[in-house]
Amino acid sequence: GGATAEPVIPFAQPNSRTRVYAIASGKGGVGKSSVTVNLAAALAAKGLAVGIVDADIYGHSVPRMLGTDARPTQVEDMIMPPQAHGVKVISIGMFTQGNAAVVWRGPMLHRALQQFLADVYWGDLDVLLLDLPPGTGDIAISVAQLLPNAEIVVVTTPQAAAAEVAERAGAIALQTHQRIVGVIENMSWLDLPDGSRMELFGSGGGQQVSDALTQIIGAPVPVLGQIPIDTLVRSGGDIGEPVTLNPNSVAGAALRKVADKLA
Ligand code: ADP
Repeated sequence: GGATAEPVIPFAQPNSRTRVYAIASGKGGVGKSSVTVNLAAALAAKGLAVGIVDADIYGHSVPRMLGTDARPTQVEDMIMPPQAHGVKVISIGMFTQGNAAVVWRGPMLHRALQQFLADVYWGDLDVLLLDLPPGTGDIAISVAQLLPNAEIVVVTTPQAAAAEVAERAGAIALQTHQRIVGVIENMSWLDLPDGSRMELFGSGGGQQVSDALTQIIGAPVPVLGQIPIDTLVRSGGDIGEPVTLNPNSVAGAALRKVADKLA
């Protein structure tokens, strides 16, 4: 004896009906967490059972964006995740002290992810979203090992160093045999009062990443949507009101359309 059994991850079982999306980006600050939270809220508003694993060790901003500062509770040997806007969420930030900077090495992050997937009581989810740390490193390999059926969604801005982002994401997807569902271009333009669009961060990044990934993968990797710049995304994130629940937000409307494609 002595061998410890690997924890069982329900989402990784062949009969699992949960769609798992890993939300990835080449770098920080492109809106990956905002997109994750807003897609989750939109999917929950459609009546789906939704969970988020916030594995972004550098940001872990998901609970705030969802408007919860609740701590997970323990029931017997399961961790019960807090819920907000109908979305169950578990975050690395819930297990670290205040804002203490955490130096996570690959193996620690792997074990944390494993625990979030195996020891958290998620119930019967329709969709599980993973907010990955920026960059396509160890964690992407961990996701592939722990959740072979996870599908990847790439978030980028119009000014992306597209080739670079795509090459790294594509190389990992090829290596791990994971499907790349598509690309979301965020911060695409700002709608001006005169009806024109101001492309603050240039244009074409989403399409370039999509084209490059399509070539690398050898199968179509579409642009799933372009999300305009909208101050309601930031203010909504600050107060925990996802803009996909706000009928007055242009970004919210664009993100709801993307959610429809992922439902
Ligand atoms: P990441 O997870 O990629 O680091 P965040 O989701 O934390 O990025 O977003 C970075 C900042 O940009 C946040 O302040 C967020 O509110 C803001 N932001 C993201 N997307 C938009 C958008 N479409 N319009 C306006 N602000 C946005």
